[in-house]
Amino acid sequence: MKVVVASRNRHKLREIGVLLTDAGLPWELVSIDEVAPGCALHEAEVSFEGNALSKARQAAAASGLPALADDSGIEVDALHGAPGVYSARWSGEPCDDARNNQKMLREMVGVPTEKRTARYRCAAGFVDPKRGLEIVRAGACEGRLLDSPRGTGGFGYDPLFFIESLGRTMAEMDLAEKNRLSHRAAAFRQLARALATTWW
Ligand code: IMP
Repeated sequence: MKVVVASRNRHKLREIGVLLTDAGLPWELVSIDEVAPGCALHEAEVSFEGNALSKARQAAAASGLPALADDSGIEVDALHGAPGVYSARWSGEPCDDARNNQKMLREMVGVPTEKRTARYRCAAGFVDPKRGLEIVRAGACEGRLLDSPRGTGGFGYDPLFFIESLGRTMAEMDLAEKNRLSHRAAAFRQLARALATTWW
């Protein structure tokens, strides 16, 4: 089955492709740019779940295909949960990972190690209008923000996002490792499980 992924982030597309293959869903994934390049993918909701379903609905409507979407971000305890659903555009548009990370470092100046706790959150959504099917599942990954970047892998806030149990940032992991513990992996694993029991 051909399924469109409502994302233009090539890192995410790659992560999602591997996660679904690992979950045993033999789908042919195409990106929104391949099938409906004009589709804007608005994110106007205030929850990750709301945005994931909304983006999947927009992609399904624009392409005529079943659609997958995720919405994700980072919640920082010392910033009362910010930037949350605004993580991608936190330092303004167009979205820029380097500028977002500089802003994060500025906002966290003087915050002691034990108060630098944060978590990535992700909601993964699947919408198939022809079957009247809408499913969304969530995942999270706990970490701590460093006061300088480490590593070159991943994307977004990964160079600052330190996983205590491994002693490394997410930018210091390869994709297989990140996919074992990430918020996106948790959400897509749950989604794949739900789809496996719903699918016909
Ligand atoms: P979205 O496209 O609205 O889901 O944007 C998510 C934003 O949250 C990204 O642009 C990053 O800033 C941040 N983010 C989400 N997941 C990750 C991740 O796995 N690593 C690093 N940053 C992430």
